[in-house]
Amino acid sequence: MYLMRLPYFSLCFAIVIFVLSSCASNPYAVTNKAYKKQTKQLAKAIRQTPVQPLPEEWVGTTNFGLRKPNYVVIHHTAQNSTEQTLKTFTLPRTQVSAHYVIGRDGKIYHMLNDYLRAWHGGSSRWGNATDINSSSIGIELDNNGFDAFAEPQISSLLQVLAELKKTHGIPAANFIGHSDIAPGRKVDPNANFPWKRLADSGFGLWPDLVLDSVPATFNPTEALRIIGYDVRNVDSAIRSFKLHFIQTDLSPMLNEYDKQLLYNLYKKYL
Ligand SMILES: [Zn+2]
Repeated sequence: MYLMRLPYFSLCFAIVIFVLSSCASNPYAVTNKAYKKQTKQLAKAIRQTPVQPLPEEWVGTTNFGLRKPNYVVIHHTAQNSTEQTLKTFTLPRTQVSAHYVIGRDGKIYHMLNDYLRAWHGGSSRWGNATDINSSSIGIELDNNGFDAFAEPQISSLLQVLAELKKTHGIPAANFIGHSDIAPGRKVDPNANFPWKRLADSGFGLWPDLVLDSVPATFNPTEALRIIGYDVRNVDSAIRSFKLHFIQTDLSPMLNEYDKQLLYNLYKKYL
């Protein structure tokens, strides 16, 4: 009897050790499980035949696919480490998340399926789109809010952007920053972010090197609005525009050069 039971206990012991060690090696084993459970619930909601209050007949079409993200919004975390951000995004009470987090060392963490809605934009607006979370991918770069962005981090970001652009057919103009969609509320990514380098690779638009003089009829507020900025507070819109395209001066004023640059850029959005 004793001999018979020994292997059983050994097996139990081995299982306990395995579970403990896998938890120890992956501190996110529990939240990964929660992720799976939540995606299952969403899949169930999608499978359901819609129940409408109208007296209508359900005839399921055979022709459909998943909605695709059409924007990429870039952030800095304003935190001290990638670990801190991963923790923030796996605590339900924070109610914030992103699809990707990229460390200073270039390590890429994928936190949410691209087809699902992350909570990264908050109250934001770009053009007439107000639910940016529903139509975008959020990418967080580990950065305390002031530091320069390390080369391995930007290099990994460019790889992720290339993949997203190819997979989802995202237009170049739709690679934007959190500050672009939330003027007066957000200032990320910080002024060290290499927007021109991104634009040179096809992610975002950038003004030409040679700028024309500005016609007397040019209306800067109108131009900012056409690019996509929320101009309900013009000073905030100018600050966001300058954080992205000027970077060396963030005052809410447009000098002649700023206006030329804005004029040149806005014509690319017409
Ligand atoms: Zn942000």
